[in-house]
Amino acid sequence: MMNLKSTIKKVNSLLLKKYGIPHRNEKIPNSLDILIGTILSQNTNDKNSYKAYTDLKKKYPQWDDVEKLTASQIEKIINVAGLGKQKSNAIKKALTYLKNEKGELSLNYLKKLKDDEILTELTQLEGVGLKTASCVLLFALRRNSCPVDTHVNRTLNRIGIANSSNPEKTFKLVNSQMPEGIAHQFHTNLIRLGREICKPTNPNCTICPLKQICLFEDKKYDRLSDYKVNDFLLLDSIT
Ligand code: SF4
Repeated sequence: MMNLKSTIKKVNSLLLKKYGIPHRNEKIPNSLDILIGTILSQNTNDKNSYKAYTDLKKKYPQWDDVEKLTASQIEKIINVAGLGKQKSNAIKKALTYLKNEKGELSLNYLKKLKDDEILTELTQLEGVGLKTASCVLLFALRRNSCPVDTHVNRTLNRIGIANSSNPEKTFKLVNSQMPEGIAHQFHTNLIRLGREICKPTNPNCTICPLKQICLFEDKKYDRLSDYKVNDFLLLDSIT
């Protein structure tokens, strides 16, 4: 049995063979943009959260202007993302905290902190959990941190890397053993695998690049014609 770090490396290399290295913008996104974008993305789909974010930015391009709004004014603009009251409160409080405590609407002060310190700092904000904070770490601060949402957690549990229904517990476990420099590709390719292949109710194990190492007991295979010659050779060598 491989140790956790080796298993993560193995899964990452199989995903790279299938999907390649995911695209990463050369321009590093603004940390506050990522924080608010991720708050808006909680419990909704990409389309709705993107619309809420762009509606807000079109109307109020500067976060200073958003900070001057009341939570209910923000709610009216971002309602399409769902949980409008909760999300508008979280946005308003985060902006007010930055203005009052840090003197500017920016998360640049995080750059000099260690990963753990950044997670602690961000998760003390209302409506900001470990997943949202780790998105800021990965996407804006380019740290080696793999956010774990319910979908990533489902896949990691099926593969056998994690054994918990709690994404925060899985986050701590996986990130304690994350090999240097691979968190972005590992996270992004796992998200893609979860959307395209390892779906919640009907995983398509026949075409999964991880099927030979995945420990999920209820793998779903399609028709025999979907098997590749190599699968038969493998079956042959086992039986
Ligand atoms: S083999 Fe099946 S259960 Fe395992 S990761 Fe692939 S799709 Fe998911």
